[in-house]
Amino acid sequence: MNVILLGPPGCGKGTQAARLQGKYGVIPLSTGDMLRAAVAAGTEVGKKAKAIMAAGHLVPDDVVVGVLAERIAQPDVQKHGFVLDGFPRTVAQAKSLDEMIEKRGWKLDHIVEMKVDEKALFARIDKRVRETAAAGGPVRADDNAETLKKRIVVYREQTQPILPYYAKAGRLKSVDGMAPIDDVTRQLEAIVGKG
Ligand code: ADP
Repeated sequence: MNVILLGPPGCGKGTQAARLQGKYGVIPLSTGDMLRAAVAAGTEVGKKAKAIMAAGHLVPDDVVVGVLAERIAQPDVQKHGFVLDGFPRTVAQAKSLDEMIEKRGWKLDHIVEMKVDEKALFARIDKRVRETAAAGGPVRADDNAETLKKRIVVYREQTQPILPYYAKAGRLKSVDGMAPIDDVTRQLEAIVGKG
């Protein structure tokens, strides 16, 4: 099974992707995590992405598509399917994904938008920073109010146009991302549980 979770930064995609893995075995693929790993490892991709990410802008489509294409070719994804979190983020990425999937003879089974109130996002990111810092973990370079504002604007301008792209093809479903975490999980399971 292949699933895409769409929604603004801090809407809970990563949390729900992990839960879908727990229940269905699908592999969570976060391009944000992949890029952060590349930055930490100092690879060519990481060098290109570092400053762009810290500023809250989007890493160029060709770079991110390359990273994702490499990852979906791995055996675990071939075997278990994926739940995408943070990709696609532009219509061009959505089109590249459609091509990659078609070439492999796969399909996108569920494309789900997590709808949230923008005001809640600031409070959530604030909480994530406080919890990470309290646990002694490294706080993400882009987890601060200023960069989050930028990421939300980028989401509105570049990522939201994906919604009509999928809706037009009759492929888009949605869940209420403002509900408690377990409720969101139940809503998602009601969608993907149908197979
Ligand atoms: P969040 O969902 O909290 O905004 P992510 O971890 O998904 O965070 O992404 C962090 C940053 O990584 C983004 O702001 C962007 O710079 C970069 N990034 C991640 N995925 C993509 C993508 N598909 N296209 C372009 N840039 C990306």
